[in-house]
Parts: sequence; structure tokens; C-alpha cells
Amino acid sequence: MFVSNLPRLGLSAVLALLPSLSLASDLDGGKWRSSEVTLHTNLNHDVFPGVDWHYQMVKAADAWNSGVDGIQLNIENGDYQPCAGVSYFDIPGDGNKNVAVFADTWCGLSFDYFTLAVTLNFYEGDYYTERDIIFNSNKQWEVNGAANNQPRYDFYRVAVHEIGHFLGLDHEEDEEIATVMYPYYGAQRNPSADDLQGLNILYSDEQAIRLNLEEPIADRLYTGIGNIRGWAVARDRIKKIELFIDDKFISRIPFGGARGDVGNAFPQYPRAQSAGFSMAYNWGLLRPGRHQVRVKVTDDNGNESSTSTEIVSGLMSTAFVDSAERVEITGPISVRGKNEIILQQVEVDGRRYQVDLGWDKGTQKWDIRYIQER
Ligand SMILES: [Zn+2]
Repeated sequence: MFVSNLPRLGLSAVLALLPSLSLASDLDGGKWRSSEVTLHTNLNHDVFPGVDWHYQMVKAADAWNSGVDGIQLNIENGDYQPCAGVSYFDIPGDGNKNVAVFADTWCGLSFDYFTLAVTLNFYEGDYYTERDIIFNSNKQWEVNGAANNQPRYDFYRVAVHEIGHFLGLDHEEDEEIATVMYPYYGAQRNPSADDLQGLNILYSDEQAIRLNLEEPIADRLYTGIGNIRGWAVARDRIKKIELFIDDKFISRIPFGGARGDVGNAFPQYPRAQSAGFSMAYNWGLLRPGRHQVRVKVTDDNGNESSTSTEIVSGLMSTAFVDSAERVEITGPISVRGKNEIILQQVEVDGRRYQVDLGWDKGTQKWDIRYIQER
């Protein structure tokens, strides 16, 4: 980042370090919990008196507000300081007021020569608690669209970029993509369609939790040891995933398995890349017949989501056939359709069954579809 001699549009400084911050596409992993947020302006620049910086911030906020649903940024005057409450610097708090200022340092740390502005980030979990924008007062600013690489910088352009950070966007490094979130001062003045889409996804009315039970499959017959598996994503951290059968708690289901497909489909959810859950279950423990299998996800915030499916458990006479010796094929084998195998007579402990096998794409093997005692 420091090798370029282009003026940088500010690192998005993170002052509260939490291990859970994750990156998803061009979002920085956080967001505002509320659908409305206020940024106060306390913008005074000694070298450029009389410029209405506040109005430029209002226009910059409007550029985002007009294209993004789900979050509204209000700009108000306010006599606040950005570094209030930074425990590291031992500065007293101001009740998490968001503010934009000119300053020649950020909380006492020097700007490097190329940095035009920074947006500070204070957060808890995945939610911002305070963000502050500090414009580098050592730079020359103007409000009428300075040309690229001229020594005076277009305040509006930089304000639009920093507000992009403020609302949740990270830098977009790809020069092929039209964006105001390119980390270097460039030609783009207003949010691009990509920029707006990023925030629209972030603040859309997404469910708190999305859950998909992939196995068992509805109305299938299950016998022996099988899998209960699927995926779950949540805005907040998932606390537990539980298995219930016929409304009786069975156990917790381990989760966190790699699911690149889910991560790609739901980039707006943190940790979607590891959304998999799975456990083995002995269907033979259930009485033969129909059963409801329900999986419930609970997140750290107390949100819950569940999904259920009805299956048919095996009709074998014993719960667990502990030896292959106890199973004997004693009748003819036939084929039905293209991919069903019918074992017309199978004996287990002296009882006779017809067993139908079908190819299952979920388990990638021949599974028992149906058992009937003869
Ligand atoms: Zn930036």
C-alpha cells in the first residue's frame, strides 16, 4: 500500500480488535445494527475558512442514501471529537458519537504522507458502535471537483469514499471495477452500481439465520447408521445447532464444516464458508414408522430458526444388526426402472423382508429405499 505514490484515500482503521472480524466480498464484515445512523460534522479548516464542508458531507451522504435501502445516514452538526473513548489513548468517551473532523493526526498518530483521510472503526461483534472520519488537515482541499493528481483534493470525492467505509464497504482493489472504494484517489466521484449493490445486500432484510437440512430427505426410508447434515448461516455467531426427533431433544450437532458453495452463494453472511453441520445418527434407535426430524439453530443474539422433515425409519426387527452373519439374501434380485435394485427376500434373525435399493445422489451410494416384511 505504501509503494504507490498516488494519494491514498485512507485506511479504514480498526481500533477494536476482535478475532471474529471476517471479510466478505467487498464488505468489511461489519454493519450498523440500526436502520438509521447519524454522523456529526465538526469540520473546521484554518487554511480554508468559509467553505461549507458540512454541505459537502450532506451531498455525499445523499449520494449513498438515494441508492441504498435499509440504512439511512443523517448528517448533523455536532461538537464532538473522533478519538473520544479510545481506551488505548486514554481519552474519555462521548457516548459513541460519530463525527467527521479535520485533524493533522488521528488520535495522536501521524498520517503518512499519502493518506487523505481515515475512517475509524469501533465495533462489538459484527456491529459498529462508532465510526469517525478524520480528514487530513495537512492536505489542500477544495469543493469544486479538482482534477486527478492535482495538489488540491476534491473534498466531496473523498467524503463519498469515507462514507462508503462508514456504512460498511471495504476497499476494492480491482482497477477494472468501477467503484469509489478504490484505495487511491481516482476519477470516480459517486458510488457506482457495484458500490450501491454491496450496501443493499448488507442492509437488505436478510433473515437473521438461513438453514438448510440436506439429509435426511423427506419421506425416505432410513435404516442403520446415517448422516444428519446441512448448512446454516447467521448474521450473528451461531451458538448451537440441535437435533430433535419427534420434538424430543437428541443432541447438539457439530458445525463449522467447510462449505465453499454456501460461502459463494451467501457472501453477505459472515463465516458462510464454514456453514456445514453434520453428525452420524443410528436410525435403528427409532421405532419403525414415520418420525419428524427437526434441526434448530440458535445464534448468540437469541435468534432461532428451525427446519424439519418427516422420514420413515427402518422396519427391521432389531435396532442394530451387529453382524453381517445375521443378514442373508435368500431370494431373487431384480431391477426396477433404471436404478432400483429389488432384493426380493432378505432374512434377518429368521424374519423375511423385501428390500428396495435406490441410487441416492445425496449420499452418493445405493441406499435402502423401502423395506417390507414378508
Ligand atoms: Zn479507503
